[in-house]
Amino acid sequence: MNPLPRHDHYIAGEWTAPADGGYFASVNPATAEPWYEAASGTAADVDRAVTAARTAFEDPRWRDLSQTRRGRLLRNLGDLIGEHAERLARTETLDNGKLLREMRAQLAGLPEYFFYYAGLADKIQGDVIPGASRELLNYTLREPVGVVGAITPWNSPLLLTATKLAPALAAGNTVVVKPSEHTSASLLALAPLFEEAGFPPGVVNVVTGYGPDAGAPLAEHAGVAKVTFTGSSGTGRRIARVCADRLIGCTLELGGKSPNIIFPDADLGSAAMGVIAGIFAAAGQTCVAGSRVLVHREVYDEVLERVTARAATIRIGDPLAETTELGPLAIAEQLAKVESYVELGQAEGGKVVCGGRRPETGLAGYFYSPTVFTGTDNGMRICQEEIFGPVATVMPFGSEEEALAIANDSAYGLAAGVWTRDVNRVHRMAARLEAGTVWVNTYRSMSPMSPRAGFKTSGMGTEHGTEVIREYTRLKSVWINTNEEPAGDPFILRS
Ligand code: NAD
Repeated sequence: MNPLPRHDHYIAGEWTAPADGGYFASVNPATAEPWYEAASGTAADVDRAVTAARTAFEDPRWRDLSQTRRGRLLRNLGDLIGEHAERLARTETLDNGKLLREMRAQLAGLPEYFFYYAGLADKIQGDVIPGASRELLNYTLREPVGVVGAITPWNSPLLLTATKLAPALAAGNTVVVKPSEHTSASLLALAPLFEEAGFPPGVVNVVTGYGPDAGAPLAEHAGVAKVTFTGSSGTGRRIARVCADRLIGCTLELGGKSPNIIFPDADLGSAAMGVIAGIFAAAGQTCVAGSRVLVHREVYDEVLERVTARAATIRIGDPLAETTELGPLAIAEQLAKVESYVELGQAEGGKVVCGGRRPETGLAGYFYSPTVFTGTDNGMRICQEEIFGPVATVMPFGSEEEALAIANDSAYGLAAGVWTRDVNRVHRMAARLEAGTVWVNTYRSMSPMSPRAGFKTSGMGTEHGTEVIREYTRLKSVWINTNEEPAGDPFILRS
């Protein structure tokens, strides 16, 4: 048997073998076969990468680059991603099982993240502060924080890396990325493009490996000035504790249990498709999955019928095939987790009206059928805990107040969907839903321009948009005395 292709870390622009010589295999979830090996990072590798990033941060080739030039490099990177889109899309599909169709669409939009922050790079600036005294000039400098540690999950590796990388680089930082141990391939495929785009070596580094072995040392490293993390709320909490201890900032984008709420005056056909998009796209492995479907009693039966009818015809199979609508779950552990939640939901009294099993696909991978539960109560664990798979609970409500009460009765607050034609209700719901994103008559829309934040246990801080620049900069206040007269009374505070 041929040995699997091996990938090393990418540090200071060089492929770098792991310090302890360890590698681990990554599995193609459609076939359940290992298809490459990645370096198993440890604290020693992280230290090398952070040192390289720190050296690059202080290197005049990066430190003294004009902001306009920084933007130019980001634009180059966006262009290169566009040129390599097909290869990157295929790589990610092989690694996490996302539909190639979806990956192509994602890759078509990915350069926009770099273009958006390329445009913003030379608009990052401080202010001149009007002082009480005309003799004192006071202005602010918005500076990069230093080395940023970025830790990402397996569901959308490139997209979630881009949302961190583009603003962090626009602000003048250097970065060490630690991708999920389940999906290192697409970022490793992207890595050589950083230097091709013109970024000096060490500005972006990639260390692969397991969370406790490579992720934890990155958050703990004294040379890291800021951590940006996307992943589960449990890991997010752990990282927040490390950052609190080190007194450094962290941005956390975490899990969700989002409600998708349908009122009787909605276009029910579109709403039902919004439910399908919300929970079955990407096999439900999206942080914003609309896993709790709340339907007004008047239209409950009709919506349930439409959703289950479409769910039952979803074409499950090879994610590379053009006609496939639902690929595998990304990892074996995720399949086991989904299966155990479906069992738990039934034990709690819920009824599976669609799916609830592994389908016949002829492939050995981690496939699971689109599954719909009825008879659930929002207090049940399957309505409160994130499953991260193609499992929806469909629950009835009788009034707007009741819908809001159920929707907000969650530890999470990532996203919410509302389906109605009543404009007043739209505004009332948007104001009262406890969620960082509210979609009305649509679901899963996103853009680099629009801020993304998780409320409650769904996160801390913001990604996307202009706000995110604050997360990657620090503000310095500079005071200049323009008065050349001898200094006055040293015991009086000057303002
Ligand atoms: P995870 O928390 O298990 O892992 C995420 C990353 O953290 C991986 O790279 C992992 O290696 C690393 N990690 C694990 N333990 C660590 C530790 N102790 N210290 C440092 N790093 C550590 O999450 P996952 O299973 O890969 O991803 C799924 C989760 O991500 C879901 O909860 C999902 O909702 C969430 N997610 C959130 C968003 C968002 O924008 N809010 C987007 C996508 C996914």
